[in-house]
Amino acid sequence: MPSSSHTRDAVIIGGGHNALTAAAYLAGAGLRVTVLERREILGGCCVTEEIAPGCRASTTSYIASMLRPEVIHELGLAAHGLRMVPCDPALAIPFPDGSSLAWWNDSARTAHALEQFSPRDSRQFFRIDDELKRLARYLEPFFLQPPPDFSRGGVLGNVDRLRLGAHFRKITGPETSRLVELLTGSLGDFLQRNFENEKIRTLLLANSLYGKHGGPWQPGSSLGMLFHLLRGGIKEVQGFYGHVIGGMGAISQALAAAAMKAGADLRTACPVASIDVRAGRAQGVVLQDGTEVPARVVLSGADPKCTFLRLLDARELPEDFRRRVESIRMNGPCAKVNFVLAEEPRVHGLPEDWSPSERALFTLVPSLDFAERSYDAAKWGKIPADLWVDCVVASNVDPTLAPAGSHVMTCFVQYVPYRLAESDWDTQREAFGDAVVRTIAQYASNVPRAIVARHVLTPLDLERTYGLTEGNIFHGDLSLDQLFFMRPVPGWSQYRTPIDGLYLCGAGAHPGGGVTGAPGRNAAHQVLRDWKRARLGRSRN
Ligand SMILES: Cc1cc2nc3c(=O)[nH]c(=O)nc-3n(C[C@H](O)[C@H](O)[C@H](O)COP(=O)(O)OP(=O)(O)OC[C@H]3O[C@@H](n4cnc5c(N)ncnc54)[C@H](O)[C@@H]3O)c2cc1C
Repeated sequence: MPSSSHTRDAVIIGGGHNALTAAAYLAGAGLRVTVLERREILGGCCVTEEIAPGCRASTTSYIASMLRPEVIHELGLAAHGLRMVPCDPALAIPFPDGSSLAWWNDSARTAHALEQFSPRDSRQFFRIDDELKRLARYLEPFFLQPPPDFSRGGVLGNVDRLRLGAHFRKITGPETSRLVELLTGSLGDFLQRNFENEKIRTLLLANSLYGKHGGPWQPGSSLGMLFHLLRGGIKEVQGFYGHVIGGMGAISQALAAAAMKAGADLRTACPVASIDVRAGRAQGVVLQDGTEVPARVVLSGADPKCTFLRLLDARELPEDFRRRVESIRMNGPCAKVNFVLAEEPRVHGLPEDWSPSERALFTLVPSLDFAERSYDAAKWGKIPADLWVDCVVASNVDPTLAPAGSHVMTCFVQYVPYRLAESDWDTQREAFGDAVVRTIAQYASNVPRAIVARHVLTPLDLERTYGLTEGNIFHGDLSLDQLFFMRPVPGWSQYRTPIDGLYLCGAGAHPGGGVTGAPGRNAAHQVLRDWKRARLGRSRN
């Protein structure tokens, strides 16, 4: 077999944004790092791609809301070209009756909008927002450190327990109840309890469930509200929603530039076929063309099912660990349709005098029950008759994405199954694309005749093209039973795996999916701690 000339300190499988983050930290600490990405492009699900001549879109992830400020600052991403502008409004919902509601960065403007529907809810809205932000601050520190390992006894176990307690030492009794309620309760119950107006409830629904399994009435669905209230953006604003200039790929490009500046070697079109394990220890990887790439440690930015079930020989893993990995909930449930349009969507109900950037996003989900019915259909393997579609006309904020007169619109569809009960996605792809167009046309009737190009990504396409097992955008559903010390599986949340020298560094590890850079940063720190402890660096060739 051909073999690369010398052993690397670390080889990283996949070139997603988390792998690039890990590469930048490891190379910055002096390790010789190689990243191996199977696609021709780095970034995984955080990319900008040409979808028609001269028209570029954030084909998968499309809004930067959770990228950790620490990663931005420590890796100098602004100096590597990263520019984000706040979405303002952060949300805009046109309703079928021609009314609309928006959530502005200016609270007076939001209050004015809410008061048209319910003065009581308007007051309540800000009180609840403050409370949620306060509660989210308790969770924030956990994002950039490994979760406690409750399986550990002795001093280390006690240190972990104390660390957990320290973060909550100031929490009050009522705050504890609220936090437990939010971590375990349903979004629908929460919104119904706190707001009287259905449209205001829908505004709070709209950004809280993306990518998740379960409708708004499912227990555990209120968790997403807290996730989105972490600090984000260069200015560290809680609840930040940002458009990225140059599309989401600009984040990955800035991370890649930081990694390369630190000395990392980044390679594309290098699919890894297997992880080389000898005597229970990862020794490197083997590429699909047979090339061996030896390394002292291997990090995988691919999802846990891909890493443990496809890249490793089943005999290398304990049976109960494999079974746990097999049962990680993935199964869709989202799709994306990207469009090039010859004219901007004219959305019924959204004021025409808003500026282009204010007209850059609109969400089509009229009520909580509508969302619940969509999930019900998807749950049984059906494409919902009524689709929840989140639209972003990115070229309204960044005109460089398309030539003058053209527009790029990306549409995220919440709730479609990975497995269709009565058909398959290769047969249904274009019919599904048509259904998305029909949904949008109910609100923006000029869209169907303005379509110049359409790029449909079903859950199956997300799996085939982006390597996401079962099309799951987070490498495993973000539900409490698959988070924190349970991610990817109980007992293995600290980035290490049952194979010595093999680490998980992607969204399948704590704290989970979204463009955060957090799993990549945390995994790199764990590798560096182990590296120091084992003094692996001493006998480098
Ligand atoms: C349609 C969609 C919309 C989304 N919207 C948003 C959003 O607006 N905001 C947000 O914050 N998040 C969003 N997300 C989620 C977010 O993009 C992901 O959770 C995140 O990007 C995962 O990053 P990662 O680096 O952990 O993994 P990935 O981005 O999945 O990267 C893993 C990489 O590993 C590569 N790989 C896999 N197997 C191999 C192999 N054998 N050899 C070599 N390479 C391999 C893959 O090709 C891929 O490049 C969205 C995701 C999708 C799909």
